[in-house]
Amino acid sequence: MNEEPWTDVDHFFTRLLVTPDDALTGALHANAEAGLPSIDVSPAQGKFLMLLVRLMNARRVLEIGTLGGYSTIWMARGLPEGGRLVTLEVVPKHAEVARSNLARAGVAERVEVRVAEAADSLAQLVREGADPFDLVFIDADKPNNAVYLEWALKLTRPGSVILCDNVVRGGRVLEEDGSDDSVTGTRAFLDAVGADPRLEATAIQTVGIKGWDGFALARVT
Ligand code: SAM
Repeated sequence: MNEEPWTDVDHFFTRLLVTPDDALTGALHANAEAGLPSIDVSPAQGKFLMLLVRLMNARRVLEIGTLGGYSTIWMARGLPEGGRLVTLEVVPKHAEVARSNLARAGVAERVEVRVAEAADSLAQLVREGADPFDLVFIDADKPNNAVYLEWALKLTRPGSVILCDNVVRGGRVLEEDGSDDSVTGTRAFLDAVGADPRLEATAIQTVGIKGWDGFALARVT
């Protein structure tokens, strides 16, 4: 993506606005050393997530899709004293790297990493009668985005926010032929959000070091 002008602009913004941080850069190095794919949010997006947590005064955050915990660290840092973040991951190795990254970042005590298929963990949270989450960040296997939306609605309250990453996919979200499961899952998510009277929502396209993508943001009414 280096030839794209927005890459340099993203680096420029990051240099000016996102203070370098050993725990976060260390997490990305640890991810790379462990062979995890480099599909975490960007530094600028991570800071956006932290600011969102703070702007909402969120005390309870649910993340679907942990990877090495890069976005988890950002959001956990936005939580107030006593805040809690539950993050769901299916690959044990990803969860192990994430736990180590979270400990190095000093946020392990406010984060719970649950290792299982996210749909199973979500069902378990409902069975446990978990208190509603203020913010749900959906960033796992895209074919299941609409499934995660349904669970998120069971685990939130009026005023909660549901944020879903990667809804543009370089413009492929427009493809209707069903050849890409991630596109199909994202379109099903957007259809469900748009048709659900319990939600008011928008979607924003973004460009940066992760290319051309975007996120959908929905507020539970
Ligand atoms: N949120 C992370 C960040 O920005 O640092 C990136 C998450 S990465 C895009 C998606 C993660 O979801 C991967 O670690 C993958 O193993 C996990 N995942 C995929 N399918 C899953 C499933 N069915 N249940 C739980 N986690 C899943």
